[in-house]
Amino acid sequence: MEDRVNVAENIDAVRAKINAACMRAGRDPADVTLIAVSKTKPVSMIRECMAKGITVFGENKAQELTKKIEEIPEPLDWHFIGHLQRNKVKYVAGNVKLIHSVDSIRLAEAVDAEAAKKNIVCDILAEVNAAGEESKFGLAKEEVYDFVSAASSLKHIKLRGLMTIAPYVEDPEENRLYFRLLRNLLIDINSKNIDNINMDVLSMGMTGDYEVAIEEGATMVRVGTGIFGDRHYL
Ligand SMILES: *Cc1c(COP(=O)(O)O)cnc(C)c1O
Repeated sequence: MEDRVNVAENIDAVRAKINAACMRAGRDPADVTLIAVSKTKPVSMIRECMAKGITVFGENKAQELTKKIEEIPEPLDWHFIGHLQRNKVKYVAGNVKLIHSVDSIRLAEAVDAEAAKKNIVCDILAEVNAAGEESKFGLAKEEVYDFVSAASSLKHIKLRGLMTIAPYVEDPEENRLYFRLLRNLLIDINSKNIDNINMDVLSMGMTGDYEVAIEEGATMVRVGTGIFGDRHYL
């Protein structure tokens, strides 16, 4: 099944849509990073992306991430986008460019402790459950301020911005308000001039809704199916 997916063509199509969305919003496409979400997909398909100049990949499982990093010696920017358990932090911190999915102060503290042990600073995003869905991880929007003030005092993490996974919807327009909410939250928090806090990343938009997310200010879009085709979980 997978070999019928034309990764190169899909990447061209996604890039064209990113450019068009930027055009509509009066934005520079260089300000939007395309993250190829390669979870469940083989190294061979990651290599097809690399041949198209993709260097940023998203994974959501610590074990799969570690294995793929071992199998691909070339320098790539790996991003961790999945729910992260505290006992898995040691496999992720230091191996990725950015952790998108920090959703509690306790987890932020665990990442900080691991980064301190490794003598590094780890870039993170706060995951926000913008639509308040029961089934989703992420901070409630009311919890974000407390999270940010806690993060501001941790020396081995750097809070770079906010991430959200919008609801699964048929019409991406239905998610526009959540993307707008995230952007307004970022602007509002930045305006408070909290020590160490100056966020510049909005990770929002997936295959079904990345164009709307870009119109609303996304600086990173996470596209899996749109590049690799459907996922087949074993
Ligand atoms: C799987 C996943 C994606 C990609 O989803 P698609 O709809 O396949 O583009 C994006 N973000 C997160 C956090 C994911 O887990």
